[in-house]
Amino acid sequence: MKKIFVVVLALLSISLYAGMFGYGQGGEVNVYTSRHYDTDQKLYDEFTKLTGIKVNVIKAGEDELIERIKNEGSDTRADLFITADVGRLHRAKVLGLLQPIVTDVLIKNIPNNLRDRENYWYALTVRARVLAYSPERVDISKIKTYEDLINPEWKGRIVVRSSSNIYNQSLIASFVAIYGEEWALNWAKGIVNNMARKPQGNDRAQVIAVASGEGDIAIVNTYYIGKMLNSSDKQQVAAAKKIKIFFPERTHINVSGAGIVKYSKNRENAIKLLEFLTSKEAQGEFAKANYEYPANPEVEPSELLKSWGNFTSQGIDLTLLGEYNSKAVEIMDKAGWK
Ligand code: FE
Repeated sequence: MKKIFVVVLALLSISLYAGMFGYGQGGEVNVYTSRHYDTDQKLYDEFTKLTGIKVNVIKAGEDELIERIKNEGSDTRADLFITADVGRLHRAKVLGLLQPIVTDVLIKNIPNNLRDRENYWYALTVRARVLAYSPERVDISKIKTYEDLINPEWKGRIVVRSSSNIYNQSLIASFVAIYGEEWALNWAKGIVNNMARKPQGNDRAQVIAVASGEGDIAIVNTYYIGKMLNSSDKQQVAAAKKIKIFFPERTHINVSGAGIVKYSKNRENAIKLLEFLTSKEAQGEFAKANYEYPANPEVEPSELLKSWGNFTSQGIDLTLLGEYNSKAVEIMDKAGWK
């Protein structure tokens, strides 16, 4: 009897010890992610080393993953969903695919304005939607704000992708949140008026259009400049070198982020992984992989990003980008933004 008691006690203390350090609990966590960087896998391996929790990764396109989690319903294997843009994170929330999570670590790692108001998702990285302009043809001292882009001076000189793109929808949604619907509609109309060409191509294509002289000012996300500068495609490198980046006053920011899936079967492990990805230890590498800003304010951006200069962001509750998404689509439609 005494012997059994001692064995039980020994087993108990081993598991307590293991628990304290997070080792040996094992188990797994399934990540559905739209990211595809080698450095992400390194971080997952690091997490497994620390916790013993195996990370299984399923990669697919952003909208495809939302569809998949929706279709899988309560049978889904997804525990943690990682994607880009508040518009999409919000859609996942509204579709009932996520669950709210609050932990001391998450609240400490990610500031208020970079997480869902009801804690359904947390930012992992930050990107800004800025101007990429030709320093030869644009006197940038004439521009301070996004509003300046609708001045007649820039007629036939602005390039930007189509209104079906979520980045533009989120940009307009931010204007609705800050300045109201009428302002946003007026701005959208002004941009359509000043376009150098019918919207076409992705953000990189806009930078190439400025480099080739088809337009003078492009509206693009910051990380594409980093990607182009580091591309194996010489045309992209050359184009990115020809432009300069300008941060308008109250720069529009957006995030990529993650939420715990509503029907997660490994909820505790998923929370641990999310805490890890938002931690000081992981944030630098995670952000660097896509030339983005870390969401954790304790971590500095990369040297390249620092070289682009500082900016102040719109300072709004990012949840609003999701809430005003359909309004933004309506406004762009009304403005004739193709
Ligand atoms: Fe993108």
